[in-house]
Amino acid sequence: MQLIAKLNQELQQLDVQGMRRRRRITESACAPHVQLNGKPMLAFCSNDYLGLAAHPRIVEALREGALRYGVGSGASHLISGHFQTHAVLEERLAEFIAPHLESARALYFCTGYMANLAVISALADKDSEIFSESLNHASLIDGARLSRAAVKVYPHSDTDALAKLLAASTASTKIVVTDSVFSMDGNIAPLPALLALCEQYGAWLVVDDAHGFGVLGAQGRGALEHFALRSPHLVYMGTLGKAAGVGGAFVAAHATVIEWLVQRARPYIYTTAAAPALAHALLTSLDIIAGAEGMARRAHLRTLIAQLRTTLQLQRWRHLPSDTAIQPLIIGSNDDAMDAASSLYEQGIWVPAIRPPTVAVGTARLRITLSASHTTEDIEQLIHALAVLDAEEVLEEVEA
Ligand SMILES: *Cc1c(COP(=O)(O)O)cnc(C)c1O
Repeated sequence: MQLIAKLNQELQQLDVQGMRRRRRITESACAPHVQLNGKPMLAFCSNDYLGLAAHPRIVEALREGALRYGVGSGASHLISGHFQTHAVLEERLAEFIAPHLESARALYFCTGYMANLAVISALADKDSEIFSESLNHASLIDGARLSRAAVKVYPHSDTDALAKLLAASTASTKIVVTDSVFSMDGNIAPLPALLALCEQYGAWLVVDDAHGFGVLGAQGRGALEHFALRSPHLVYMGTLGKAAGVGGAFVAAHATVIEWLVQRARPYIYTTAAAPALAHALLTSLDIIAGAEGMARRAHLRTLIAQLRTTLQLQRWRHLPSDTAIQPLIIGSNDDAMDAASSLYEQGIWVPAIRPPTVAVGTARLRITLSASHTTEDIEQLIHALAVLDAEEVLEEVEA
């Protein structure tokens, strides 16, 4: 049992560093007001930015999909698991994103993690060079590793540094990879400048819009709409388990790129297709995102973001500048971040503390996320609880 002893030792090490993570068990649907360990809580944790995760029309569509297609797909897409509803969803996603891509086609994946692995490992090989933003999501980093390409990491949002790296590159395939909205900071990548560099140096720009799809842009088309971008150099990845409220992800790009993924991307080929009922439910989710209700939900979310940003006044903690639904408060040490989260928890408010290795050492934070299903009263309650906590902390500091 030497192996178990070794793991136990490393787990203890995590405890010492305040890095052991625990899962909380939610007993009700994903919503602002949830039941947690038998206790009602006001939650600011999920990425359900439009409040669609428990939307009655989407729930009904899922039921309808299950009645029509059953529960499982039975096989991978290339064997027999590709259903009519998957095909329709891909057509609808391609149409939705088409204003921003040339010859757009879309491919539906089980998860965003797999979509990122697929795109990067299929487009890059050992003779390629990948230029990766320093705050990129783990799935993009893992995709780059899987590809065996040379990887150059450029500093956060530093387009001058990227320009130098691109100018120096002799690789035949160059791929710039970035999150659109940074998941732990909430700020938006300088996509217009990144795209201009890609066009100048003949590189691809892979955009991971996990936190933008459905939320950014007047129609909810995401970061490309937000910046009014359109280019054949773009490869777009949007997830469908965050603002879209269901699950899975899609890649949209030039039809040839998508055909290449179908032929060569191992995370696409060697896995059982997602349940067709999920694709069916996503059709309703897309209708809502693209329609008047989606627009109203995005407008309400923007109101809540403005409310939090203009009202919250803190002495000790740094409220990062972010215009998106991700509103982090930098606390510093792991223990202080955990203490802040548990004090809020005692007040019936659930905000996750995010620690290394997800964020840099010394920047542990409360990651507040807002949803269109929150009310202005919910935000008031959060602001009040944070103000009380901040004042207590300041007092303790003065006394100490
Ligand atoms: C959530 C997330 C993913 C992964 O998407 P899943 O569908 O949850 O697997 C990829 N990239 C970013 C930036 C994310 O936040």
